[in-house]
Amino acid sequence: MTTVNGGISFWYSSTGLPAPREPLPGDTAADVCVVGGGYTGLWTAYYLKKAVPFLRIVVLERKFCGYGASGRNGGWLYNGIAGRDRYAALHGHDAAAGLQRAMNDSVDEVVRVAQEEGIDADVHRGGVLEVARTPAQLARLKAYHAAEVAFGETDRLLLGAVETAERVRVAGTVGGSWTPHGARIHPAKLVQGLAKAVEALGVVIHESTPVTEIRPKHAVTPYGTVRAPYVLRCTEGFTADLKGQRRAWLPMNSSMIATEPLPAEVWRTIGWDGREALGDMAHAYVYAQRTADDRIALGGRGVPYRFGSRTDSDGRTQDATIAALRDVLVRFFPATAGVAIDHAWSGVLGVPRDWCASVELDRATGLGWAGGYVGSGVTTANLAARTLRDLVQQDSGQSGPTELTAQPWVGHRVRRWEPEPLRWLGVHGLYAAYRYADRREAEAHLAGTSAVARAADRIAGR
Ligand SMILES: Cc1cc2nc3c(=O)[nH]c(=O)nc-3n(C[C@H](O)[C@H](O)[C@H](O)COP(=O)(O)OP(=O)(O)OC[C@H]3O[C@@H](n4cnc5c(N)ncnc54)[C@H](O)[C@@H]3O)c2cc1C
Repeated sequence: MTTVNGGISFWYSSTGLPAPREPLPGDTAADVCVVGGGYTGLWTAYYLKKAVPFLRIVVLERKFCGYGASGRNGGWLYNGIAGRDRYAALHGHDAAAGLQRAMNDSVDEVVRVAQEEGIDADVHRGGVLEVARTPAQLARLKAYHAAEVAFGETDRLLLGAVETAERVRVAGTVGGSWTPHGARIHPAKLVQGLAKAVEALGVVIHESTPVTEIRPKHAVTPYGTVRAPYVLRCTEGFTADLKGQRRAWLPMNSSMIATEPLPAEVWRTIGWDGREALGDMAHAYVYAQRTADDRIALGGRGVPYRFGSRTDSDGRTQDATIAALRDVLVRFFPATAGVAIDHAWSGVLGVPRDWCASVELDRATGLGWAGGYVGSGVTTANLAARTLRDLVQQDSGQSGPTELTAQPWVGHRVRRWEPEPLRWLGVHGLYAAYRYADRREAEAHLAGTSAVARAADRIAGR
């Protein structure tokens, strides 16, 4: 059985690639121009149009809606947001706890709107289970659990080895932490459904339309220019391709594999009846889901970064990465040793230099953006979009500041990444260190995080 490699992602093998929408026919004017048709751009268009139905909103998408990470991810709709702890250090614990509450609500909000709009995205509210498989991972898990509780997640459960195995039997597990604030989704069904919902509201989407330059009140494409008082950049992992943005958010790769549908006897060995989003506490961490059609889709870092901030070609990943992910799968679930890997793919996510997600509307220029979600963007994009809506409404005098515009991630600025070859050397060095630290923690049964990983965290600026 051969493994399909690329083809955007496994998620499109069940839905098929969407029929293409028309490119931009020529110069045009709008009230708001959204660049990028992933979750961030589409949610932004959705909430703005709902708030002000007469707004003329144009979405420009280089390929097709859901071409990027929004159509390729692991389907963890969960309440993690990149940078919360740094925002606590910068703005105080209460401000960051408010951001965390907004994230918890955003999980509910995505589920609510999907239901209201009739988007069947295979949503299963099984929460998120993170497991520890070494003593060092267990120490990190306990610290992580305590921190989440301190940020208000009093409904989170710390589980022993047996309780964890009652949910999912991951080989070698010594403990787990479970939160109800998460759901398993089918990423492509969500993004495709969202694009249709946005269009039904009257937003115009142009696909196969690359924006080559964004400047105040202009989004320039080879087919014409959209002039709009507000131009919102929602290009996340692809942002470095835009003029002037080469050293902004770093395009980090994440790769996934999906097994064939697993037979009942394998599921009896594994459990996982609650279909929790599943992850571990390794430095080079693993994330997984049990799909609606009973496969395991599992992801991890692979080759972390391509020289010069290049992105992949339609989701193709390296053979070595497929082998490494398969190896992880079998280590986690020995009963999968003989199963076929139907599909493998990769995508890019945006990593800011300080690993903090942010959202901003520059009132002087009308340029806005949101992203830098570092792999936690499925829910965060929804919060970012509602925040962009409020910022645009505030700027155009239709409303005042809101709870969302006061959140600590609004207007956060970060320095640029180092030029090449430092950027490439740095990221590859970092992940080599993390992989070494994971091996060392496992082999030496270290009781706490290895010094190498702690040093890597400091160098990374995490
Ligand atoms: C393999 C993988 C697994 C992940 N798993 C999870 C997960 O389980 N949970 C989670 O929370 N997060 C996960 N993430 C991260 C999450 O998917 C992203 O943070 C989120 O989808 C970002 O949405 P977005 O709309 O900002 O960006 P994208 O979905 O990348 O959308 C950006 C869009 O902009 C378009 N575009 C780019 N440049 C231009 C241009 N110049 N002109 C016009 N259009 C342009 C692209 O074609 C793309 O469609 C994962 C990411 C990857 C890659």
